[in-house]
Parts: sequence; structure tokens; C-alpha cells
Amino acid sequence: MTIIDHPDAIREQCRAWRRDGLSLGFVPTMGNLHEGHLSLIRRAAADGFCLASIFVNPLQFGAGEDFANYPRTFADDCAAAEAAGAGAIFAPAEPLIYPPGFATSVEVAGLTDVLCGRSRPGHFRGVTTVVMKLFCLTLPDRAYFGEKDYQQMVVIRRMTEDLGLGTEIVPMPIVREPDGLAMSSRNRYLGASERAAATCLYRGLRAAERAVGEGATASETITAAARIVIAREPAADIDYVELVEPETLQSLPVLDRPGRLCLAVRIGPARLIDNLALTPPGAAS
Ligand code: AMP
Repeated sequence: MTIIDHPDAIREQCRAWRRDGLSLGFVPTMGNLHEGHLSLIRRAAADGFCLASIFVNPLQFGAGEDFANYPRTFADDCAAAEAAGAGAIFAPAEPLIYPPGFATSVEVAGLTDVLCGRSRPGHFRGVTTVVMKLFCLTLPDRAYFGEKDYQQMVVIRRMTEDLGLGTEIVPMPIVREPDGLAMSSRNRYLGASERAAATCLYRGLRAAERAVGEGATASETITAAARIVIAREPAADIDYVELVEPETLQSLPVLDRPGRLCLAVRIGPARLIDNLALTPPGAAS
């Protein structure tokens, strides 16, 4: 597996791979790789040549968020990525991506005002700016994004379509721990009792799904089913629980077509997110 740290070098190398006829699949990450990331790498490697990136992007962290503490485990990440089938890793130092004078940002309107955009102003602008730069350097045929960060996947897909990049955005299912907690680098911030409480996100989603199975269609009823479960955990502080339309992320007052139930909950030092596709009873999913 090749490790490349310079933007000029990755641009040249990606050109060479394309000249050699390789079909390029790109997996952008912030490192601290777990099975969620590795599922993306495995799929990209099965579809063609897999390039993964590791870059903790300062632009997507707000003031007071966890940029400084974000886990950095580069040597382990390289070993895990290689074992999962990555052919190369791009791991640039911060000043190579944002040199002095860097002044450009990419912003997707509307989709970024809702859900996590409300409580993390500027977060998605940071994400789209770095992903756009990484896409420009690598020009991948496909890029893989986990549905764990469902809003992020929708925002990137919008950006890619709007700007005519020609990269196919491949959404990938959420990988969970055996007890249902969605895998996340931020789970390591949790102490033992917080880790136990954190299962309330998935338990809440499943309670909402059960409510739908029992005939609930009003967003209020469906989200209440999730809220009740989460609110039983004293360590849990709900940021939002919302039923949205899967493409526009606008509120869906009635589940009369497929929806996405999205939530964000603070558990101790960690702000965790999760989501689940919901379909009205009797509708094809
Ligand atoms: P991150 O390193 O957190 O920026 O994540 C990099 C990519 O891995 C993003 O596309 C995430 O959505 C994806 N990812 C993170 N956790 C999971 C998970 N539990 N299941 C599936 N994909 C994930």
C-alpha cells in the first residue's frame, strides 16, 4: 500500500492510475479507523482501486468542539486500511491542504440549515470545502460515504451533482456494535456507564420503528416513541429527533412515503448521531 502526503503527488499518482485504466474509488476519513470505515474500504476495493484519505479537517470543527482531542492513530489506521484492501492512503499535513492565504469555501444551501446544521454552524461548509478539495485532487470515479452521517452523505451528493463532478456517490449502510450502537470514533470518549447509556440512540430508533409497525404515521407520535426511550437515560441530552424526507431533509409531518428518522444526542462528553430508514406499513421499501 502506497502512502502519499503531498497534494501534487496524489494528483500525479491519480492521473497515472487513470492512465493505467484503474477505476478509482475514494474513501475520505478522519482516521481512527473502525469497522464502519473498513466496510467502505472493503466495498471500494471490491469495486476497483481503493484510495482512502486520512485528514482531521479543522474546518469542520466548531469552537469548543473536539478537534484537539480527536483520536489520531495513524500507524494502526494504515495497517487496518491495507488489510481491508486499500491500495493507497493520502494523508496530508494540514498546511498542505490549507496553505497560508487559503480563502475558498464551498457551501451547499438549504440542506445544511437543518438537523446537525442547526447546532453545528459552519460544520457542513468545512466538510464540503475539504471534500471538494480532495475530489479535485483525486477525481475519483466513485466516493463512498457512510449513512451513519446521513445528512453529510446527502449534502455531498447534492454538491457533486450541482457542480457536475461526475463522481458517483455510493451510500453505505451503518455498521453497528453488537448492542446496536453505531460505530464512531467518538464512542471512545464514553466512560463505562455512558457507553451503556449510549445504546439509547438505537433503542429509540427501534422504538419508533415499532410504533410505525403498530400503525403510527404522525411524525409527532413516531418521534415521541424515540424520545421517551432516550429521555429515560439520565446521561442523555437530546439535541434533535426528527422525521425527514430522505432527499430534501425537510420535515415529514406524516409518514405517508419513505422517511428518515434522524437524531443527535449528547451523552457526557460525546455528541452522537444515528438514523434509520422508515417506511409506512404496507409500502415497498
Ligand atoms: P469520519 O472518519 O468520521 O469522517 O468518517 C469517514 C466515513 O466513514 C464517513 O463517510 C462516515 O459516514 C463513515 N462512517 C463512520 N462511521 C460509520 C459507521 N458506523 N458505519 C458506516 N459508515 C461509517
